[in-house]
Amino acid sequence: MNVFDSLIGQEHAVEEMKHATTDAAKVAIGERGDAMTHAWLITGPPGSGRSTLAIAFAASLICPSGGCGECVDCRNVAAGVHPDVEHIVPEGINYKVEATRSLIERASLLPTRSPWHVIVVEDVDRFRIDAASTLLKSLEEPPPATVWLLCAPTVDDVFPTIRSRCRHVALTSPTFAAISQQLTARFGIDPAMAAWATRAAQGHIGRARALATDESVRLRRKQILDIPTNLRVVSSCFDQANKIVASANADADAIVTPLDQEDDQDIRTAFGEGAEGKGLKTVERQMKSALKDLDDRAKSRRRRVLSDQYDRVLLDLTGFYRDVLIIQSGSDLVLINEELRPKIEKLAQTSSSAETLKRIDVIRETRDNLLANVNPVSAFESMLVTFRNPQLLSSGS
Ligand SMILES: [Zn+2]
Repeated sequence: MNVFDSLIGQEHAVEEMKHATTDAAKVAIGERGDAMTHAWLITGPPGSGRSTLAIAFAASLICPSGGCGECVDCRNVAAGVHPDVEHIVPEGINYKVEATRSLIERASLLPTRSPWHVIVVEDVDRFRIDAASTLLKSLEEPPPATVWLLCAPTVDDVFPTIRSRCRHVALTSPTFAAISQQLTARFGIDPAMAAWATRAAQGHIGRARALATDESVRLRRKQILDIPTNLRVVSSCFDQANKIVASANADADAIVTPLDQEDDQDIRTAFGEGAEGKGLKTVERQMKSALKDLDDRAKSRRRRVLSDQYDRVLLDLTGFYRDVLIIQSGSDLVLINEELRPKIEKLAQTSSSAETLKRIDVIRETRDNLLANVNPVSAFESMLVTFRNPQLLSSGS
């Protein structure tokens, strides 16, 4: 096993990271290793695994065996409790200058038990100019043992000054074929089911796996796709909006509960194993504080996962109307929801493509509203009311 095993269809990036790991070991003992550098920018679309790659690279730099995935160091990095690896996500919409300053101060510290002090920074596109220039100073004069792993959706989302200090690794969306092969190879999922789930998830790996393995996830997806043809009276929009929000919350719980339990277990194991030689009381106190941090991170993870679930509902509905549009335009492209063809054809015949486009527009508008913290039930309700009557959507929006 190796820490990079969970990356799918990113062979070239994994090769580069492994090469850098080998050279990092040389640099650490004063030899030359050109494949290693102090600042990396990892970009890739959602679901491509950019933070998975960053965490795996962090573990491979820290692990005495170059990322075995099994030793205490690898497990602690994965659990987010390794003293030499920091994993930073923005608190709120953007990175704050104060928080960035204290991050830079910590970044200059020497590692405690490994050759490198690794800092993984997610969503580098959320640095505004003031916080970015603070970060830039540390990138320009990196402390000798510090490695920055910056993650962003695309290069264009990152300030050119930051970009130019980093070596760039680009992840691509893996092909549907690569994803469904991986689902079969790693999880023993039946090939036909794997192919269907990959198409239904429109290439999002985590979602495809959940659809292929969890009947209740498939059922909830089906309920979402029943909505467009089930809005006979306006009052049903409110009921359906409530159902969407309840179902997204149930999906979010199904995802985070096992992760929370694993993290909790990892921390207990980590402190249990580190107990020798130290006072038991000290270890207990450190463990309590680690569990408290974990609780904070668990809350912010649940918020992120829930917002992913709303996105997923919107993605499923966009896919549905994309299928309607394909029929309306007379194209013979494969439908995302091939199994719903009769229903989709009926809707295609009883509405115009202009209406379909308006419905797709209002889905996009709903996503913006959710990002702007509009109450989710209200946001979905107003979307469904527009689904019923697309004329309600003003042409200016
Ligand atoms: Zn290891």
